[in-house]
Amino acid sequence: MDCNTDRVVIFDTTLRDGEQAPGCSMTRTEKLQVAHALCALRVDVIEAGFPACSRGDWETVQAIAREVQGPIICAMARCKREDIELAAKALQDAPRSRLLVFVPSSSIHLKYKLKMAQEEIVRTAVEGVRIAREFCEDVQFGLEDASRTDVEFLAQICEVVIAEGASTIDIADTVGYTVPEEFTRLFRYLRKNVRGIEGVRLAAHCHNDLGMAVANSLAAVVGGARHIDCTINGIGERAGNCSLEEVVMALKTREKFFNVSTGIDTTRLHPTSRLVSSITGIPIARNKPIVGENAFSHESGIHQHAMLQHRSTYEIIRPEDVGMAGSNLVLGKHSGRHALRERVTTLGLRLEEPEFNRLFEEFKALADEKKELSDLDIEALILRVRDRASDVQPRAL
Ligand code: MN
Repeated sequence: MDCNTDRVVIFDTTLRDGEQAPGCSMTRTEKLQVAHALCALRVDVIEAGFPACSRGDWETVQAIAREVQGPIICAMARCKREDIELAAKALQDAPRSRLLVFVPSSSIHLKYKLKMAQEEIVRTAVEGVRIAREFCEDVQFGLEDASRTDVEFLAQICEVVIAEGASTIDIADTVGYTVPEEFTRLFRYLRKNVRGIEGVRLAAHCHNDLGMAVANSLAAVVGGARHIDCTINGIGERAGNCSLEEVVMALKTREKFFNVSTGIDTTRLHPTSRLVSSITGIPIARNKPIVGENAFSHESGIHQHAMLQHRSTYEIIRPEDVGMAGSNLVLGKHSGRHALRERVTTLGLRLEEPEFNRLFEEFKALADEKKELSDLDIEALILRVRDRASDVQPRAL
C-alpha cells in the first residue's frame, strides 16, 4: 500500500468502540441501519463488531458482511485462534474484509492487566498476525495504550508484526492521554525508525478524555498517519472517540494546511449523525461542532448583520456541505408517500417496506390533527413505529 499518499482512510468504529459505551448498545436491525448509513457516507472501513464477544455480535457482523456492499468490513479479535476463527467466519461473505487483532503494549497494561513480560507480548503479537493472515490478506494490528508505551518497545512490536504481514498499524491513545505535539513526534519516530514501515499504513485511534481526540488525530496525520479511527458523534468508551464529522471537516476545511483528503460524502454527515443519535438515544449537544443545532445559527445582531452581507464573515463551512440545509418541503395531510419517503431519507433513516407503510398511516393520522409536521414529529413517529416492531422481534444480545 502506498503510504506517501495524500488520502486518509476513514475507519469507522461506531459499531464497535462506539457501541461499547454505556447506553449505546444497538440491536442487530439498528446496527444494520447504521452500517448502511456509513456506506452511503462512504467511509473506507466499517468495524462491525467483536464476534467473540457474543453470539449476537457474531450474527450482526455476519449480517453486515453479507448485506453492506462498498466499504471494507472489519471485525476485531484478540490474538487467540478461537477469536480470530470466529471473526473470520463471520466475515467470510464480505466482498472485502479485514481482521483487526491487537495487544496492549504499555508497561502499565502488561504489569497490571496481563501480568505478561514484553517478550511474551511480542510472541503473542506475532502469533496473532500469523493466524489472522491464514484467513485474511488484510490485517490491521492494534497497539492498545501505545501512547503510554516505551517507544523503542513500540517500534520493536511494529517491526515484527510488519514482518508477519500486517498492512495497517493502529497506534492507540486508549486512555486519551497524549497531546498533539507529542503524538506527532511519536508518528514521526515510527516512520523514521521502524524497518518496513514504508509498506504499511499508520493509523491513529484516539480517545477524548482530555477533549483532544480530534486534535490528536490531526496531529497524527501531520506526523505521517494516513488512517483515522473515529465514530459518529464521537461516541465511544468513557469520553468517547475521535468524532468522525469533526475530523473529516477539519481535514476538508483546512485542506491546504494538511494536504490530504478523505473519500467521505460530507453531505451525509448530518443525516448519519441524527440516525446514530436517534438509535442510541444519546442526544447531540446543541453546540457540538458540525452537527449540533447551533453549529450554524447566528443570533447576535452584529453577527446576523455581517452574515447578511457575506456568509464568510462568520461561517467557515457551508451548512449544505454537511447536509444541514433546511428543507423547504412542508409535510402535511396533503403530502404523499413520495414526499414522506424523501424526508425519511433526508433524516438519514432507513425503513423496511412494512415499517414505512405503518409510518405512512400514522403520519396521515397525525397530519389530520396537526397542520404542519416538523422533522422532530417525523422522527418521533419513526421511533414509535420501530418500538412496535421490536416488541415482536427479539433483541440481539
Ligand atoms: Mn478504543
